Amino acid sequence: MFNEKIPEKISKALNFNHFSKKLLQWYPENKRDLPWRNTQNPYIIWLSEIILQQTRVAQGLPYFQKFIENYPNVEDLAASPQEEILRLWQGLGYYSRARNLHKCAKQVVENHSGQFPRDYKNLLKLQGIGQYTAAAIASFAFKEKVAVVDGNVFRVLSRYFGIETDISSNEGKKVFQALANKAISSEHPDEYNQAIMEFGALQCTPKKADCNNCPLQAGCYAYNNNAVEKLPVKKNKVKISTRAFLYYDIECKGKTITKTRGPKDIWEGLTDFPLEEFQSPEKIDPEESKLFHELQAFKPTIHFESEKTYKHILTHQKIFSNFVSFKISSDYEKALEDWAEHKGFLLRDPEELEALGKPKLIVRYLNDKK
Ligand code: SF4
Repeated sequence: MFNEKIPEKISKALNFNHFSKKLLQWYPENKRDLPWRNTQNPYIIWLSEIILQQTRVAQGLPYFQKFIENYPNVEDLAASPQEEILRLWQGLGYYSRARNLHKCAKQVVENHSGQFPRDYKNLLKLQGIGQYTAAAIASFAFKEKVAVVDGNVFRVLSRYFGIETDISSNEGKKVFQALANKAISSEHPDEYNQAIMEFGALQCTPKKADCNNCPLQAGCYAYNNNAVEKLPVKKNKVKISTRAFLYYDIECKGKTITKTRGPKDIWEGLTDFPLEEFQSPEKIDPEESKLFHELQAFKPTIHFESEKTYKHILTHQKIFSNFVSFKISSDYEKALEDWAEHKGFLLRDPEELEALGKPKLIVRYLNDKK
């Protein structure tokens, strides 16, 4: 295998023309017909790219449609309250994307008169737009010759060119970006970027790549060296921590006590219930909970104690959660309101709660309770 630490040198030896020509031939015959394709509208491209980050097309598609229906242009999105955006985003996860979407729309409206910047460098200055998204918008909307590098691109390049550099390392990112910049077509940068990503999604897939029917087979390093399953190399596996929550669903006169989640933790800006965190799922025990004892002052009746433990998996965290549902008599309404205010909680009626963005875990619990 060549020395991939010097991409300039190796790049001279590689037949990029053949590679990009084959991809450009493959793409029109095999691409999926998706609503954000065949457009040069940067708003639509940006919206679809943000929604599709870490998300499968089938899952992202209905969200894309909902957003376009509710916010046909960037001005509408910028003018919307954040709670409304979070509610529409509910269930898609990675909520920082939704918050950044809103901030970015405001930047475009306030600082750029509603027009997205037309080049990679200036797109990168917007909130939530990283190298990948900037390259996608700059090339798809404005035909700038700048290569996208996402998981699909890493895989196709590493297999075809036989590169073992760890894709999670800084060095790997530089090597693959350099290689991608060499491989991109000068004439059709937009089509080429779409083609390589689609090729990775449909043909050169993580498992069971369709090598037998692949137009790149003859020149593919991985195919010819029995290395398809070994590439790309990713050493840094994400560390996953386990968290255990005990939630309190407290109702008084038809209203429920809620909490808006703060910064520096998961689900910022979403609405959930008061909760106590335990060291491990086995240790969840209302008797050991401070909130449980505080709430006894309002003589609650336990309405429901979930035997079910709700499990929710995020990229870095596994959450295990139980729920206790308390009913509190209207005699204690005022005292409960004071307590809630002191704690930074809010009493909300069912319509308000329904209209707010909530973590999927809470939505599952509320649905089970119906
Ligand atoms: S031959 Fe297999 S590994 Fe090589 S590019 Fe084609 S699908 Fe990917």
